[in-house]
Amino acid sequence: MTTVLISGASVAGPALAYWLQRYGYRPTVVERAPAPRPGGYAVDFRGASMTVLERMGILSAVEERATRMGAMTYVKETGKVTAKTSPAAFSGELEILRGDLVDILYELTAGTTEYIFDDSIAAVTQDESGVEVVFDSGTTRRFDLVIGADGLHSNVRRLAFGAESSYIHDLGYYASVCTVENHLGLDHTGQIFNVPGKTVGTYSARSNTEAKALFYFASPDLTYDRRDATAQKAIVEEQFAGLGWEVPKLLDGLRTAPDFYFDSISQIKLDSYSRGRVALVGDAGYCASPLSGMGTSLAIVGAYVLAGELHAAGGDHVRAFAAYDVRMKGFVEACQQQAVDGARWFIPASKWFLKVRNLTYRLMPYLPWRNVIREMSLKVGNAIELTTYEGLPQQHEVPRP
Ligand SMILES: Cc1cc2nc3c(=O)[nH]c(=O)nc-3n(C[C@H](O)[C@H](O)[C@H](O)COP(=O)(O)OP(=O)(O)OC[C@H]3O[C@@H](n4cnc5c(N)ncnc54)[C@H](O)[C@@H]3O)c2cc1C
Repeated sequence: MTTVLISGASVAGPALAYWLQRYGYRPTVVERAPAPRPGGYAVDFRGASMTVLERMGILSAVEERATRMGAMTYVKETGKVTAKTSPAAFSGELEILRGDLVDILYELTAGTTEYIFDDSIAAVTQDESGVEVVFDSGTTRRFDLVIGADGLHSNVRRLAFGAESSYIHDLGYYASVCTVENHLGLDHTGQIFNVPGKTVGTYSARSNTEAKALFYFASPDLTYDRRDATAQKAIVEEQFAGLGWEVPKLLDGLRTAPDFYFDSISQIKLDSYSRGRVALVGDAGYCASPLSGMGTSLAIVGAYVLAGELHAAGGDHVRAFAAYDVRMKGFVEACQQQAVDGARWFIPASKWFLKVRNLTYRLMPYLPWRNVIREMSLKVGNAIELTTYEGLPQQHEVPRP
């Protein structure tokens, strides 16, 4: 049985493990965190990824835990509403909290996949017949293939492809998200306040029992310690200090938040998603950034295609990885372009464009092209033709070592 080590147990990793075990492979997932990571922001699905969820048999489970968000409201400093966007603009066809999705994927695969938590790959050495992997824990094991599903700052990519600086393209923005009190009493909705180059907002989550605060800002490259949350919070506070609306209250929430995300808004661009017996899936291979709204769809579809191509090539990884590159390229490019286009609208750079945006959103419901945002994002979500990979054997239990 072909053995595959997958690094990362978020979205792409468990989704890939699901398909691999269905095709008769033996997947092992190694995750740096001590358990599946809960919480996090809302992520959404559009287009082809909905079909993949259905083929995985988890569409209804995701629907059951969907956020069911309504329109997003844009407000002035005084809180007065200036514009609204339809649910489809922010929440796609189906939206769920990232942690809830990870739960569903873990539950789906835990019985058939070996999971190793609290560990990471320290070294990979490839030869003709396989890959020798040394783990941080000191264990050494051999696998037929190794897949990096370990996100924007992928460890596997660094080990097999080289330094991140060669592949990462910053879009010139930073994003921060944390859980706060739903102090505005938002009911399945969110509010956004802008000044040029900065977007701050809050949206309700978990049936309005809590809210997420989001802070996005334009900035040249910042130097900071990626493990120092206190220093990162200080950056956010400095960026948003002195702003009106609910910003002081949201910054209070940020200081004591139970969770915290901060990173540059960046994309990963590679000519090929593999090097020999090592390949990448999801953000590790082709991160489109949060501004695309397509990262989760890319991860789910990418996992489906990668496993499907391995199956179609009868396990010949050279042929499969080449086909995977070809099938994903156009889809990845469309999703990445959507982030570049979307940035102008989500984080307007000038007072003038901010006015244009709000006016456009205000008029949108009355214009003949009122559904343009939904249609454009659906077009991107469907910018891949899904192959039906034949010959799925019955689901089987993989014995745990
Ligand atoms: C603020 C924000 C908002 C977003 N909004 C949306 C949205 O609305 N719609 C959407 O589709 N997408 C959205 N995304 C993007 C989406 O979250 C990602 O595209 C998606 O999670 C990618 O999944 P992934 O499995 O490839 O990587 P990730 O979710 O990044 O997971 C990587 C996993 O690898 C693990 N890992 C990292 N390093 C190691 C290591 N050395 N060893 C072992 N494990 C490791 C991590 O702990 C993590 O579990 C958003 C992202 C952010 C940050």
